[in-house]
Amino acid sequence: MNDKKKNSLPGLRDAIAEMTLPQSLAYLADLFPGEVTLSTSFSWEDQVLSHYALDAGLEIEIFTLDTGRLFPETYIVWSKTNERYQTKIKAYYPDQGGVEKYANDKGPNAFYHSISDRKGCCFIRKVEPLRRALKDKSIWITGLRAEHSPERQDLPLLEWDEGNSIIKYNPLLHVTTQELKKIVDDHSIPYNPLHDEGFVSIGCAPCTRAIQPGEDFRAGRWWWEENIKKECGLHSR
Ligand code: SF4
Repeated sequence: MNDKKKNSLPGLRDAIAEMTLPQSLAYLADLFPGEVTLSTSFSWEDQVLSHYALDAGLEIEIFTLDTGRLFPETYIVWSKTNERYQTKIKAYYPDQGGVEKYANDKGPNAFYHSISDRKGCCFIRKVEPLRRALKDKSIWITGLRAEHSPERQDLPLLEWDEGNSIIKYNPLLHVTTQELKKIVDDHSIPYNPLHDEGFVSIGCAPCTRAIQPGEDFRAGRWWWEENIKKECGLHSR
């Protein structure tokens, strides 16, 4: 099954090469009925993708990882999205036992203590729930953009995610922030107001801050760590 999915990559790349974003989403939804999923953190990127999928009524499951540490604003935009599109974004939650053990052994904010404790928290609250969300799916649509970090500059639009045994589609890879904002404005798409306060990438509240003009996009995440490859494990390659 995995080989079959993996081997379909070159054909898919050719097929969507000349398509617009809405066309490519519709094409994949038709080709893999019930097996296309879109992860959302309710960022600008994910809201644009959700808009195209929901507005066209595509058979694409949209899910979010509710880590339990999200900003109040994120829950508001989540509710607004459900209302606007008459949908229910599916939520995956961390394993209760894992969260309890982590908090009881290490403390509720142990992610500030070391990179391994931070990654441990990300594993429990994000990576493990993500694995459940992607199980039995063939295509995972993400809002990754090249502007977000140097590591993402050379990402392909379609790639094989070995860890999750799934084809990953990054359709916004080369879309700029200005272009993204224009789509949001043109379609009056609900978005997280934290973006207007300098938050570029919005994750968990204790681990995300606004950035100053000119600062690297990833400076807003896990800022107490050395500015090396900052990833939470969701998009490891
Ligand atoms: Fe935990 Fe922070 Fe990772 Fe969220 S971003 S899962 S709070 S370490």
